[in-house]
Amino acid sequence: MKICNIIGTRPQFIKQATISRVIKNSNDIQEIIIHTGQHYDDNMSELFFEELEIPKPDYNLEIGSGLHGLQTGKMLEKIEKVLIKEQPDYVILYGDTNSTIAGALAASKLHIPIAHIEAGLRSFNRNMPEEINRIATDSISDILFAPTKTGMDNLINEGLKDRSIFSGDVMYDSVLFYQKKIEHKKLSMNLPERFYLATIHRPSNIDNIYNFQSILNAFASFDKDVIFPVHPRTKNTLHKTVISDNVKIVDPVGYLDILQLVIKSDLVFTDSGGLQKECFFLKKRCVTLREETEWIETLENNCNILTGADTQKIIEAEKQICGDFIIKEKFGDGKAAELIIEKLTENKL
Ligand code: UDP
Repeated sequence: MKICNIIGTRPQFIKQATISRVIKNSNDIQEIIIHTGQHYDDNMSELFFEELEIPKPDYNLEIGSGLHGLQTGKMLEKIEKVLIKEQPDYVILYGDTNSTIAGALAASKLHIPIAHIEAGLRSFNRNMPEEINRIATDSISDILFAPTKTGMDNLINEGLKDRSIFSGDVMYDSVLFYQKKIEHKKLSMNLPERFYLATIHRPSNIDNIYNFQSILNAFASFDKDVIFPVHPRTKNTLHKTVISDNVKIVDPVGYLDILQLVIKSDLVFTDSGGLQKECFFLKKRCVTLREETEWIETLENNCNILTGADTQKIIEAEKQICGDFIIKEKFGDGKAAELIIEKLTENKL
């Protein structure tokens, strides 16, 4: 059986690592990896392949950045050629990026069955480019693997029940797998004893410079340092903002380092989908710099607080305390990748 994975961004490399680990243990699956090149800086791409021991991509399409239509269109053209050549039994797509929707369009028109990992997530905010990618990808995929019961309910409400399976979240598998391995790993940076961690890269917080400054103003009021690994998209707008001395700008770090930063920090401020969950899995309180979240399970007991970009709400959220982190079964049993590969093998068309 031949499975072709289409990936292109940092969170997709992390998800891919869990699937590749399972495929490695199977004798009868040939794995092909297409890297679209959506993320291309070494510390957003290469580093993850090395650190997480992901097989080297069979194809790197080197698409790079661009407006949504241009980027997705270029991907579609190149992915189609590879799929015609490879004729896989399945295409696996991950999450909600332009690499996901381009893969979905290419594979569906070639009648190649599609499995969508992290299906059913909805923010119900169509201003997010990711929301469009999710809805479109789910509607044309053949097997939908929902990471949460909420994701499953969304798919049922959209009439997609027959194609949907609650698999659990491969990102949860990943944290459980690496949590033990990083305990004694030395971090690649020096840290103050107490600090907060921040990541910000969503267009609503970055392209809108007023929102970005509003978040930074809240950080300026904290009496702790804020370690801020800056996404390449964010880097380009930093010069338009006023940044206080306690905010420490650093380059993006690898996955094992970011997990350690979460563990060692007192609190995390983020607009990342993945990081919200990692905080939850590692029982670290999180303040989400968005108006809504797809991961509503994390909101229980104040474990995650939504503030948007509002300075005052962020300052108030810093002071709050949270209750217990009740993780049990919300994101599966830590074996989502095994279940996904098992289902694909059973369903070989
Ligand atoms: N991440 C990382 N290094 C960093 C910042 C984030 O490895 O410097 C990881 C983070 O832990 C999570 C993933 O990247 O697993 C999330 O990616 P991102 O925030 O870019 O995308 P999103 O999850 O919002 O789609």
